[in-house]
Order: sequence, then structure tokens, then C-alpha cells
Amino acid sequence: MPSSGKIGRLSVSVNSFVYAKPGTNGMLRNFRRLPFSWVACKGWAIRQAVELSTIFFPGSCVACGQDIRGDQLPGNRSAENNIPLCETCRFEITDVSPRCGQCGLPRHSDSSCPLCQKLIQQLGERTILWQQMFVLGSYQDRLRESVLAGKKPSGEGLVEALSDLLIEQHPAIRELKLDAVVPVPMHWRKRWERGTNSANTMAKQIASRLRVPYRCDIKQKILARPQKSLSAKMRPANASAKFSGVGSQLKGKRVLVVDDVATTGATLSAITRCLLEINVTVVYAAVLARTDEAMDSEGNR
Ligand SMILES: [Zn+2]
Ligand SMILES: [Zn+2]
Repeated sequence: MPSSGKIGRLSVSVNSFVYAKPGTNGMLRNFRRLPFSWVACKGWAIRQAVELSTIFFPGSCVACGQDIRGDQLPGNRSAENNIPLCETCRFEITDVSPRCGQCGLPRHSDSSCPLCQKLIQQLGERTILWQQMFVLGSYQDRLRESVLAGKKPSGEGLVEALSDLLIEQHPAIRELKLDAVVPVPMHWRKRWERGTNSANTMAKQIASRLRVPYRCDIKQKILARPQKSLSAKMRPANASAKFSGVGSQLKGKRVLVVDDVATTGATLSAITRCLLEINVTVVYAAVLARTDEAMDSEGNR
């Protein structure tokens, strides 16, 4: 039998089907809203199809589709944490190599991290603005494949599972006394094209697990050039121009900013600056995958 949670997730947002009432400019408003509503419906339909498949075929790994009911015996780690990944996928995705808690890059000794200083120079800041960075793993192999699959509407379950794995790998996240989880925003046009935003899915899942509010207080105001088309030096300025903080409800709060991939860290740094400008007390960052070669390449976001 499907769980009540899954039934709950089948609920339809009435607002997605409500068009503007005819009035003075009613026809024009309807015309403008129609494509967005159609795209919203399409994305919704794909998500519900994926949800239905997990209801009718429960106990499948969200990464490979393998039956994991055998894995979910009492005492098994998957059962304890209720993460719908088979043992093979968990093993291939999990990356426990030591990383610097500030820049998130691999760390090879206990001495101070030389890459932090490089990152500060690259970002053009005096210091790394976020307090701490939590990384699930390196942006390569199975994790890279999974993150790329998560950029499609059908991959939302996979992003949720990876978010759970991130929390499991970094139990310290639960001790941060967070007030909110904020996703790196995506411009509406890009989201329209993709039908989903991994960072949103991730933020909602982490917020739900930590029982803290999910907030969207940062907006992407312009559709700037994609970061992946720019060199590492050009990225900080491009990212800064894109985002702005709205509202003041996060003033004095402790916030976790999440994104699926960090390449140079320019986007996370720009978001963190926006949050600090609206008087957020402390900002932490969490990403599913970190490009370890960020210092030497243009990345591949
Ligand atoms: Zn699997
Ligand atoms: Zn570092």
C-alpha cells in the first residue's frame, strides 16, 4: 500500500489551473499566462508519473531502478535512513574523502588549507563568506551522472535521495541550529525550459528532514550569461549581477544555502553576499557535488 505521504504528494495545486478572470485586459492576461500554465502542467504530469511509478513499484532504487526490498531488512542502513538507493548505488555515489570544511575542496593534510586562499583570491573577496561548506562528493563518475539526471523533472526523487545522503554523511548539519534553508534560485525562463530546479528540490528535502522552513528570499533578477560559458575570473562579477535579496524575514537568522553543483563557488559566494546584505547572521553552504579542479579549469556546470 502506498504511504500517506505519497498520496499527499498527488494533491493538485489548484492555482496551477486558475487563469486570470476576464476583465479589461483579461484576454491579454489569459494569453500571457497560458504557456506558463501549460509548462507547469507538463512538469507536474511528469513528476506525478514518477511518483506513481514509485507507488505501483515500491522499493525500487531511484538511481538504477533495482528492487531494494531485500536491502530493506531490519538492521540494514537503507531501512534505518529510508533512503531509496540500492547498496551498489550508495557505494558508488558515496565519497568519504576528506575535504576542507571551508572551501569544500579535497584536503590532503591537517595543516591550513592552501586552496582556501586561492579561492578567496579567485572570488575577489577578503574571506570566504560562508561559514562552512558541506559536500556530498566530487563532481565525477556516478555522482556526476546522478546530479545530471537530477536536472530533469523525472530526477527529483534522485535529488531527494542524494540530499538525504548528504545529511547522513554530515550529521553536523543537524547541529547548526538553522532557521531556514534557501536554494540557489533559477531564472524563471531557465526553469521553464527545464521543468525543474534541483536546488529547489534539494532545499525542500533538506528543510523537511531538518524540520526548518524552506525560504526563497533570493531571486535571480536577470538571465545573465551561463556560468559554464565563462572563465573562472569572469564568474564572480557575472554571478553578483544576477541575484538580489528580497524581504527582511531572514534578518538575524542562520541560513543554509544549497545547490546541486559548485564549480568555482562564485554563485554561492554571490548568494551569501546577498543574504549578508539583508542581515542574515550566518550562512552555511551545502552542495551535492564539488568540482575539484575548479582552481585550474573553467568547470563544467
Ligand atoms: Zn541502485
Ligand atoms: Zn580550503
